[in-house]
Formats: sequence, C-alpha cells, structure tokens
Amino acid sequence: MIALKEIETEDTLSLARWHEIESIMSDSLKNNYFTMVYQPLVSLNTGRLIGFESLIRCESPRFGVIGPDEFIPHVEQTGMIIELGGWIFEQVFSDLRHMLDAGLGNIRISLNISPVQILQGNVFQQVMSLMEQYDVPPSAIKIELTETALIHNPAKIAKVLEQFHQKGIKIWIDDFGTGYASLGLLRQFDIDGLKIDRSFVNGITQNNEDFTLCSAIIAMAQRLGLETVAEGIEQDGQLQILEQLGCDVAQGYLLGRPQGVARSLSMWVK
Ligand code: C2E
Ligand code: CA
Ligand code: CA
Repeated sequence: MIALKEIETEDTLSLARWHEIESIMSDSLKNNYFTMVYQPLVSLNTGRLIGFESLIRCESPRFGVIGPDEFIPHVEQTGMIIELGGWIFEQVFSDLRHMLDAGLGNIRISLNISPVQILQGNVFQQVMSLMEQYDVPPSAIKIELTETALIHNPAKIAKVLEQFHQKGIKIWIDDFGTGYASLGLLRQFDIDGLKIDRSFVNGITQNNEDFTLCSAIIAMAQRLGLETVAEGIEQDGQLQILEQLGCDVAQGYLLGRPQGVARSLSMWVK
C-alpha cells in the first residue's frame, strides 16, 4: 500500500513537472530565454583546438536555469524541437560566422541533432540554406547524432546522413556505448567518428571494465577508420590514458567548460 502511494506521488510530481516544463518551454520560445554555449574539442595528436560542440542553455527569469537533459526529451516528445531546432541552427551559424571572422579559421562546430528533427523536419535543407546565408564551408560543421537515434527509422536516417556526407559534412555518433544499436546496424551508416560516452571515461582510471571498454572502442574505431572522441574528461589521469590508447580528440571540463561565444573567443583567439 505504502509503495503504491509512493509511486502515485512520484507520478503526480513528475506529471506536474512535465506541465511546468511545457509552460517554461513555450514561454522561453516566445521570449527567447535560450542561449548557445560552446565547449572546446582538442586534438590529442597536436594539442590544438579543432572546434567546439554547441550546447543549448535555458534560463527563465521565473523558473531559473533548466538543463537540456531535462527539456530536450520534452521538446522532442511535444514536437517543439522542430521550432527550437530552427532557432538553434540559426544561432549556431551566426556565432560560427563570428568565430571564423574573429580568426578561428580552421574550426568545426558540432550540432546536436535530434532524430525527431530528421524524421519530421527538413534539417538537410535548413543546414544547406544557412551554410549559404552565412557563407560557411561544409568543413566548418559536424553533426552529432546519438546511437539510439539510429534505431528509430534507420532507412530514413541513413538517407539524410548520406546527404550530409555527400556535401562533406562529417558525422559523429554521440554517447557511443550506451545505446542499443548493434555494430551491424552501425555499418549501414556513413559515419566518421564515435564519441565515447562520459560514463566510460569517468571510470577509466579506477575501473578495469571501463578501461577495457574504452580501449576496445578505440581499437575497433581505428580498424574501421573512424575517429574517436572522448567526452567528459575531468582529470589529467584520464587524459593521459586516453592519449596512450590512441584516442584522437578530447572534450571535458579539464580542457574547457562550455562558454558563450564572447568568452570562447577571448579564451581561444591568440
Ligand atoms: P551531449 O550531447 O552528450 O553533451 C555533452 C554533455 O556533457 C553536455 O551537457 C556538457 O556540458 C557535458 N559535459 C561536457 N564535459 C563534461 C565534463 O567534463 N563533466 C561533466 N560532468 N559533464 C560534461 P549539457 O550541455 O547539459 O547537455 C546535455 C544533453 O542535452 C546533451 O548531451 C545533448 O544530448 C542535449 N543537448 C544539449 N544541447 C543540445 C542541442 O543544441 N540540440 C539537441 N538536440 N540536444 C542538445
Ligand atoms: Ca553531443
Ligand atoms: Ca555525448
């Protein structure tokens, strides 16, 4: 009885939060309470900055900061991601133009794309027209799609990824190792790299299994000619191990936290 009551309370609470997020999201879209931040990606071969991952932030004056981990699944389910995704792309391209003009000539910016945007929207056309509008070369962008996103409608996703690929836009699989995509399925997609999930990087110095997983992913990726990116690096020890294992790119608080465009420029333009 007690357990049932607890469940009911939890469900009611999460339902209330769901409605709250719904109103925060529509309010934030109307009033533009969103911003984009950029986290550096560093080459482990050269030690140089190769680009940034774009990440969304939301701060409503009434409700404070709410994290993308909480609101992205919500906007995906309600379909609001289509409108929000359009805003994200526009903002990222405008910031990218700014970064290129400020002297960060060889960078790439990663865009996180939700499967809903691919299946219900027209991401390819959107990105193409923004590339033209902001005069951005395909080599300056990259797409991140989670492993789980691949299983929704593999044929459609593969087609859109191929369109991007043909234009010279690289594709990385995000949160690799946490989803349910089989290696067989992965082979059907035109991909360029794997982002090793933060949960494996986290335990790499103390946990044998995490170390084994990271080294196996890197070895497999090398054999398949794919790049590897390790995310969530917070400690020097983690960075050193990943470097020894032959990982190509590093990302995490140790290398730099996500920052707005102005701070990113002041930190990275020499
Ligand atoms: P993700 O794509 O896996 O992004 C990486 C997340 O790890 C980011 O969280 C980043 O701030 C965090 N992170 C990076 N380095 C470290 C570290 O060293 N330690 C720890 N503890 N965390 C680190 P964030 O910004 O909260 O984003 C969460 C998720 O929300 C993203 O996971 C992505 O799935 C989604 N997301 C964020 N921005 C966008 C966006 O513009 N579009 C879409 N579709 N999804 C987004
Ligand atoms: Ca990502
Ligand atoms: Ca990730």
